[in-house]
Amino acid sequence: MNSLLLTGGRVVDPANAIDAIADVLLLDGKISAVGKDLPAPAEVERFDVRGKIVAPGLIDLHTHLREPGQTAKECIATGTAAAARGGFTSIVCMPNTSPAIDNAGTVALIHERAKTEGVVNVFVTGAISKGIAGEELAPIGGLKKAGVIAITDDGHCVQNNDLMRRACEYAKMFGLPVMDHCQDYSLVTDGVMHEGYWNVALGLRGWPAAGEEMIVARNILLAELTGAKIHCQHLSAAGSVALIREAKKRGVSISGEACPHHFTLTDAAVAGSEKFWSGDGQDLHAAGGAQPASLPAWPAYDTNFKMNPPLRSAADREAILAGLADGTIEILCSDHAPHCDYEKEVEFDYAPFGITGLETELALSLMQLVHTRRLSLVDFVAKYTVNPARLLNLNKGTLTVGADADVTVFDPGQTWVFERAASASKSRNSPFFGWQLQGRAVATIVGGKRVYF
Ligand SMILES: [Zn+2]
Repeated sequence: MNSLLLTGGRVVDPANAIDAIADVLLLDGKISAVGKDLPAPAEVERFDVRGKIVAPGLIDLHTHLREPGQTAKECIATGTAAAARGGFTSIVCMPNTSPAIDNAGTVALIHERAKTEGVVNVFVTGAISKGIAGEELAPIGGLKKAGVIAITDDGHCVQNNDLMRRACEYAKMFGLPVMDHCQDYSLVTDGVMHEGYWNVALGLRGWPAAGEEMIVARNILLAELTGAKIHCQHLSAAGSVALIREAKKRGVSISGEACPHHFTLTDAAVAGSEKFWSGDGQDLHAAGGAQPASLPAWPAYDTNFKMNPPLRSAADREAILAGLADGTIEILCSDHAPHCDYEKEVEFDYAPFGITGLETELALSLMQLVHTRRLSLVDFVAKYTVNPARLLNLNKGTLTVGADADVTVFDPGQTWVFERAASASKSRNSPFFGWQLQGRAVATIVGGKRVYF
């Protein structure tokens, strides 16, 4: 059952510098061959994928599965189902569950649950600090032994620079990258949206770009000091991109990721759809070539436009796109952060930060990067496959013969509307319901088995 012959697709495998029309043979859960007119045993099912892209299974290295402890929002079964629907064969879950993933027992629990309930591969990150409280180091060696692939306090940010330095030193000893949610608490205080024109107009407290840039700068200095690999999560600000670009030129072991909401939307969206479409959203759909019949509408103060870090200015959005185009930002991800309706249906100030993203990120990223010709398809696929695999030392993200048969087949041109009722996630906190999107997963194959098609 774990065998399949994919015929006639455009195979895009950046790890092996392949971009060609070819067949891909999956046998017993492994990649068996890639080439023209491949012979296959008679019993192997053939799957015609002409006109589609055949890529290594996509990896999302930033998701919140909410299990254990917050399963009203999401659980491993629903989170991995949403991943499969979005075209992802591997996802990495963040440790801000309850209890937090700061001990070997919780890591083992998630591995066990993922094996029995998950439909895609789940990789686990451990906390930097005990209880993600930023005060004492978590047992990093024990977490590594239990199988975590990185450490992060995501959702929170270690403010004590000495503690962060020690975390980096331990992580380096254990060969783990350190991922960081960059937020300086003393600058951000209780900000709920980007500090600029719109937060003043709307009467909401500001979250300044410098609150992110300060910690990105700190991380660059600590990467130089300790030699650890530091990865800055969900970059939103132009200054962060400039800092990382300059540091990478000097060979510093720093990297970054970006999420589609930050390079599609801006803070104007918090003022409602009219303000957004008549301003920063003007050429969003035209650029992709897919003109929807009517533009989606939403009111001002819609809490599905509240996330951390917040949506920023049009200039920041442009800088993130430029950083993705020139390779400064090597990785794309969702920061899939489900919340219950009743939690989001409150005043903007009181709503939790975060939106779902696994089912829309492939389309939104294609629209903003490939359909606009900012990025080639090969470079685009790399940001979802070989680049995250390299950062996290995962044996994934490639169609090399002998590798696990994780494959994503997608149609970059397919237009579709993201319907609220059709989401596989347990939560509905997406700003993109009703949007006409272009690009969609056609089949998600994990270990040679189709888990979504
Ligand atoms: Zn975060």
